[in-house]
Amino acid sequence: MTLSAESQDLIKRRARLLGPNVSTFYDEPLHIVKGQGVWLWDADGRKYLDCYNNVPHVGHCNPRVVEAICRQAATLNTHTRYLHDGILDYAEKLTATMDASLDTAILTCTGSEANDIALRMAEAITGKRGIVATDATYHGNTALVSQLSCSNPPTVGFGLEQYFRFAEAPDSYRNPDPDGTRFAAAVAEQIAAHEEAGTGFAALVICPFFLNEGFPNHPEGWLKPTAEVVRRAGGLLICDEVQSGFGRTGTHMWAHQKMGVVPDVLTLGKPMANGHPVGGVVTRREILKTFRSGYRYFNTFGGNPVSCAAAMAVLEEIEDQKLLAHAEAVGVHARARLNALQEKYDFIGDVRGSGMVFGAEMVLDRASKEPAIAYTDRVINAMRHRGIIHSKLGRHKNTLKIRPPMPFSRENADLLFDTLDEVLAETPVQP
Ligand code: PMP
Repeated sequence: MTLSAESQDLIKRRARLLGPNVSTFYDEPLHIVKGQGVWLWDADGRKYLDCYNNVPHVGHCNPRVVEAICRQAATLNTHTRYLHDGILDYAEKLTATMDASLDTAILTCTGSEANDIALRMAEAITGKRGIVATDATYHGNTALVSQLSCSNPPTVGFGLEQYFRFAEAPDSYRNPDPDGTRFAAAVAEQIAAHEEAGTGFAALVICPFFLNEGFPNHPEGWLKPTAEVVRRAGGLLICDEVQSGFGRTGTHMWAHQKMGVVPDVLTLGKPMANGHPVGGVVTRREILKTFRSGYRYFNTFGGNPVSCAAAMAVLEEIEDQKLLAHAEAVGVHARARLNALQEKYDFIGDVRGSGMVFGAEMVLDRASKEPAIAYTDRVINAMRHRGIIHSKLGRHKNTLKIRPPMPFSRENADLLFDTLDEVLAETPVQP
């Protein structure tokens, strides 16, 4: 397959207008012009099954969300310094899905902003600046938060490095830690290093499902020992649920509930308004009050009436369509199909996931578990040429990342895995 003249022209214009090193997906970038439910169409009218995008959580161009946005945009759009019931109704409905202690919210426009606020909340509450995260993570792109991004580390910065320390990311395949005590000890070690350096400890920030790290298989309640270590040290537990939240894991609305902990601060984004830019921070009232009196936070666009209408429609759709139970059932089926492929193909080393996030780790050899990095890339590109789009993640970038919109069905999963079977059969591990 070769790129159309139109796509080639768009690639040139991107480099000219957006900078020469702007990134795209796939060996032949896609020019998508339309989306509906779990489907995308390119400019030539070709249809793709979307197994990648978690932002259109309740489906591309979901009619309820589109209608809510249009109705509110045609009525009023201002900011949070006027009285409006949209943000209040939303905050009420959102926090009702959480532990009673998580009762107050700030709305932002991105997950990065939400994490930036969370880190500053920890500093405002503890008076300390030492942050701990995992060494294979991503939490966003502000000056502060980009220091956490091991998967995409900055090569320049603002001299903030001394405030960040990293514990080895959990890896249930290569380095099992079934009760979570080893990870808790690794976090304790980094906390002690912050104390020793005189920085002090402010917070641990983690995705409770470790999605960017490759979503290791952990039993429910796995984070309890880690939360204890954080609390004993007087720091805050920040759970970044930008990817893992809103029922993605199927069994629970929030992955922290699955992992048996209540965070001090919870950050949200991506799926929150189905593609309309909405992020958020949920925390206890006294934490929010201390943060706001310290930092005088205001966000021009965060929490505007149109954003709140979109976010509200997403919550309603999750509820009405029973998307958690659906995600759980489709996830069980998807993992069974992946397990069957694992029996057939030696290079599938491990199958993981929960609900509407699943994948397999590709290895060159099951005994050594050596990551099949280039092979994973070839498989992803071959799938794209057959009309199925997904990606890869994890420390070695050799784990298939399958994270479709939540309405993804059992039949969609069958099409995905029938195609994957064909691609694996015809793609040699060594080219
Ligand atoms: N946290 C996590 C776990 C993420 O995966 C991302 C984005 N990939 C972010 C935060 C940042 O979100 P945004 O791109 O909306 O700033």
